[in-house]
Amino acid sequence: MRTVILSLVFVLWAPAADFEILDQAEFRRLFPPDAKVERLVTGLQFTEGPVWMPGQAGGYLVFSDIPADELKRWDRRGGLQLYRKPSNNANGNTLDREERLVTAEHGGRRISRTEKNGTVTTVVDSFEGRKLNSPNDVVVASDGAIWFTDPDYGLSGRPREQAGNYVFRLDTKTNRLTAVIKDFDKPNGLCFSPDESRLYVADSGKPRHIRVFKVTAGGEVSGGEVFAAIDKGGPDGIRCDEGGRVWSSSGDGVQIFSPQGRLVARVLLPESAANLAFGGRAGRTLFLTARKSLYAVETLVRGAPRPK
Ligand code: MG
Repeated sequence: MRTVILSLVFVLWAPAADFEILDQAEFRRLFPPDAKVERLVTGLQFTEGPVWMPGQAGGYLVFSDIPADELKRWDRRGGLQLYRKPSNNANGNTLDREERLVTAEHGGRRISRTEKNGTVTTVVDSFEGRKLNSPNDVVVASDGAIWFTDPDYGLSGRPREQAGNYVFRLDTKTNRLTAVIKDFDKPNGLCFSPDESRLYVADSGKPRHIRVFKVTAGGEVSGGEVFAAIDKGGPDGIRCDEGGRVWSSSGDGVQIFSPQGRLVARVLLPESAANLAFGGRAGRTLFLTARKSLYAVETLVRGAPRPK
């Protein structure tokens, strides 16, 4: 009898196996008590770049399967569907201020935009007269500027034309492209703090850490100190939530950092996560692309608001 009672107590109090909790108070702010990781889709090749598309019936998720050369879509009602093929090996995706899909294309070596009528146009594909390497991830700021990383992961034997792996800012009013950060090994995921005063950039190359930059209203960056190191695998996609925390993909799933860079919790996945996005009808579902699968977990926080 005593054993039964002890077992019951253990079941009630044991933290869900889907998480590692380092700060209980923070964890309770982030996840409902019954939160658990759900695998929505599997059997894909290498998933990346989730973004929630607003639309009828609450919207749907778009994400990339890079080697399959496909963009997929998923929602609870319709399940998994093809969104676009070929995708030019689309990698990271985001929305701009007009809610158009903006995509970092490995194969296309460009940033593309999907217009409201479905036409796909090139936003930018070269810097100083030479082709980009293979744009990896992309975000749009509230002034409409498009910021993206350009490591050389996706060249697939094609000659590299850029002298380095840069972080770029495209001023969409003047069409001027600037290499704003040049000292990364492999710049990868990037995100802004909710007030856009900070830019976080993941280095998935040798350093395996996230750096933080100060950003001026004119789009100039300074600083660049190490914000957090990822201790399992490396950082790929990253997102800020509305409270300024940084959520990073990692070899063990997702690592969640306070705005000061303190690890507060992990979401544990059976596959390495490559990217993440907040979405869903209420904006409080965290979608995780991890190797062959798509996962989701309900949260109590939303992502940093989209640019207006
Ligand atoms: Mg990436």
